Amino acid sequence: MRRSARKRLYVALATGLVLFAGGGPALAADYAGALIDAHSHLPNATAIDAYVAAMKRHNVTKVVLLGVGGAQKDDVAWITAAARKYPDRVVAGQPLPDPTAAPAASRLDAELARSGAHVVGEVHVRQVSRKIDRSPADPAFVKILEVAAKHKAPVVIHQELDASATKALEAALTAVPAATIVLAHGGESTPDVVDGLLARHPNLVVDLSGMHFQRTPALATEKGPLDQGWKALIARRPDRFLIGIDVWAARLFEPAMLDRLMTWTRRVLGELPPEAAERVAHRNAAALFHLE
Ligand SMILES: [Zn+2]
Repeated sequence: MRRSARKRLYVALATGLVLFAGGGPALAADYAGALIDAHSHLPNATAIDAYVAAMKRHNVTKVVLLGVGGAQKDDVAWITAAARKYPDRVVAGQPLPDPTAAPAASRLDAELARSGAHVVGEVHVRQVSRKIDRSPADPAFVKILEVAAKHKAPVVIHQELDASATKALEAALTAVPAATIVLAHGGESTPDVVDGLLARHPNLVVDLSGMHFQRTPALATEKGPLDQGWKALIARRPDRFLIGIDVWAARLFEPAMLDRLMTWTRRVLGELPPEAAERVAHRNAAALFHLE
């Protein structure tokens, strides 16, 4: 294409975009307000530096750092050090590597008394790829929920829901109504199933972490629209969802990748009604984890 023709095409395209944005269905702007990453992890002792640098670039106010369910023996040391180095940015979760062991509840009671953590997890209840399949209604886990409720600390669980896992989750939610369970990654489930759970259990909150363009199920591809089913559900129950990025592997801490993940997060939040976006982006997490 000759240069002048190309220029005319660009002008035409730009004009079309402006007209589209002004007249037709508005192109949503990225969410620009405060943002709390309610669910991430560290892969080593130094990754937090790259993460905090990215937080500053994208105005991510706080990050909740969680353990990875016993897969990393240094979770507590790394998270504690990160919180000490960046006290304004990092919220330290209380890892819980072995949730159905007999002494787990009394151990957690002592740890929460000492750490004062406002969130427990991530607890791997059902993760098919790691062959983990526990019941949250197991009496040992019910004790965990009672201890967490006593300390007013919600418990973040990873539970890939199928029919029987869903039943067990409902039994746990019913057994300890004073405990709040945060179901990570939307339970890797569907908006319909999650809607029913939220309707029946006021003590359930859902985190949308790890539902980004590199994973399935995803809320949206890197550039595509927010899934209609999730969008409708979040807009209808905006007080029940938290956003999170769920970085964990060292490769995700490359600055360019963090930029893509945080840009995507703001873009997807921008598709929600502004009031819902504010809640999901930071208000719900601030209230739930006592961050204000
Ligand atoms: Zn996680």
